[in-house]
Amino acid sequence: MATDYAGAVRNGAMAAARLHVEFGTQAKMQQQGGGIDVFDAVLGVHLPLLLRPLDGLLGAYLPDPIPGILVTTERPLSIQRFTAAHELGHFRLRHRPSLDDENNILRRMTMTATPTAADPDMQEVEADAFAVGFLMPRWLIGWHCLRQGWLASDLRKPHVVYQLSLRLGASYEATTWTLQRYNLIAGEAGRALRQSPPRQLKIDLLEGHRPSDYRGDVWLLTERDADTRIDGSRNDHFVLRLNEHSGGGYLWNMDQLRESGFVIIHDDRESTDHEGVGGPVVRHVTAGLELEEGQRGQLSLNEARPWQPGSPISRVTLNYDLTGPEEQGFSRAERRRLLEAA
Ligand SMILES: [Zn+2]
Repeated sequence: MATDYAGAVRNGAMAAARLHVEFGTQAKMQQQGGGIDVFDAVLGVHLPLLLRPLDGLLGAYLPDPIPGILVTTERPLSIQRFTAAHELGHFRLRHRPSLDDENNILRRMTMTATPTAADPDMQEVEADAFAVGFLMPRWLIGWHCLRQGWLASDLRKPHVVYQLSLRLGASYEATTWTLQRYNLIAGEAGRALRQSPPRQLKIDLLEGHRPSDYRGDVWLLTERDADTRIDGSRNDHFVLRLNEHSGGGYLWNMDQLRESGFVIIHDDRESTDHEGVGGPVVRHVTAGLELEEGQRGQLSLNEARPWQPGSPISRVTLNYDLTGPEEQGFSRAERRRLLEAA
């Protein structure tokens, strides 16, 4: 184990990069997009995982008699994912047992360039650096920026960083610190981002709609998200913005959205040019899950003339898993593997 802070950060990051190489993660993610499935990685290294309500703890790593990890069921998915990655880091780096509480993990999720405590526990610094490097590798941030058409200057905008955090499966705050750590934004920009909490971004995206609370996330989805994975929670909302060639009679078929178990909360069209009727428009649809029940599957939306439904001019397909957060029992990754094997 490293004896100084910089060495510990390096060790953790390198161990995460090695595991990605072992799993061929980069090639896989370039095909499917979305965030790194840390619970699937835990299965991949045959590390027993127990999900359960934990009293005062987010997670734990116990190396003896056989190694295993615990992750709480009492937190949102992004925190569960960070905790699982932290515990996976302890395992990969052959650490001593660790009981990780809120103060531990959430305070240090920052991974700043300098230690936040006077005498940091190097084993914990290594595990945190592992978690950041594993869930938010630089190449994955680069992939999402390229896919979404975000420029370096866009990473200073709260609404962009919020949408990036959803696609990475990380919390907004952890994403701002990671962008800072990779020198993609300056410290001042990071501080400014953290002063724009996601709650207001969610309110803005949902416009008039008021959910019972703002714990769920709001995904802004466009054609750029086609063929990618959406990994979210049952109380999430979706705002779709799709170019529609309604002047030529082509309309997005929102029945497909309803048939997949979504409720349409709002549906309208915005004109993108002001030259008159018949120009391109943006179809703007807000949707949530029916009865807030978790669901996973594939959703395809076609843009077609209603009288020629079989000949769409464009199609958006999304693979989604909205069954988060992780619940007691098998992880969602493990359930998936069991179903596929059955
Ligand atoms: Zn720990």
